[in-house]
Amino acid sequence: MDELLCSAEVPGVDGFLFDLGVSSPQLDIPGRGFSYNEDAPLDMRMDPGNNTLNAAEVINTYNEHDLARILRVYGEEKFASQIAREIVRRREHEPIETTGQFVEIIKAGIPAAARRHGGHPAKKSFQAIRIEVNHELDVLERGLDAATRWLNPGGRICVISYHSLEDRIVKNHFKEMSQGCTCPPEIPVCVCGNVPILKVITRKPLVAQPDEVARNPRARSAKIRVAQRL
Ligand SMILES: [Zn+2]
Repeated sequence: MDELLCSAEVPGVDGFLFDLGVSSPQLDIPGRGFSYNEDAPLDMRMDPGNNTLNAAEVINTYNEHDLARILRVYGEEKFASQIAREIVRRREHEPIETTGQFVEIIKAGIPAAARRHGGHPAKKSFQAIRIEVNHELDVLERGLDAATRWLNPGGRICVISYHSLEDRIVKNHFKEMSQGCTCPPEIPVCVCGNVPILKVITRKPLVAQPDEVARNPRARSAKIRVAQRL
């Protein structure tokens, strides 16, 4: 953001809209390993030109504890430790290289009774690995920091998130930036010197009404938060 705005010689910005939804056309590119519905190499990098780990490297090299944490935290997967154990067990025999192999492992890690309801059993684990591969949460925090710096007074940041972890990051960023003084209450005079730079416009996030969800099911998990630069 810094680079683009500097090179375009933009002095300041009146509004930012972050739509954290993953671009469907990007996920639909065959052969990149985003989809559990096709068999492809486990890549999942949004930007394959970047010198970062791909999904296969994460799955084959992270230890069981880290894999379980990623699946639990980023995927909100209830059976994270069972799936992580299954990954480690399988990769001792052969490397896990394709989405098809990964789907099989996930299914083996989830008890049969739990596999019968809810969406595709691999959905949460695929999301978790994708977030890890692309450092999606770090990128969001850096993006919010940069946007806050670039805002003109009175300008607004609006963020649409689809995932509770992302929403929490947005909420905390807005809270921190709108708080000002963080001195302990027993100190009579402020020594931290922090001043609020954002005002939170949405105390609670805005969500889609039932008729919108009926027209567009993907809106179900969407939450909007808005803050204004002071
Ligand atoms: Zn203070």
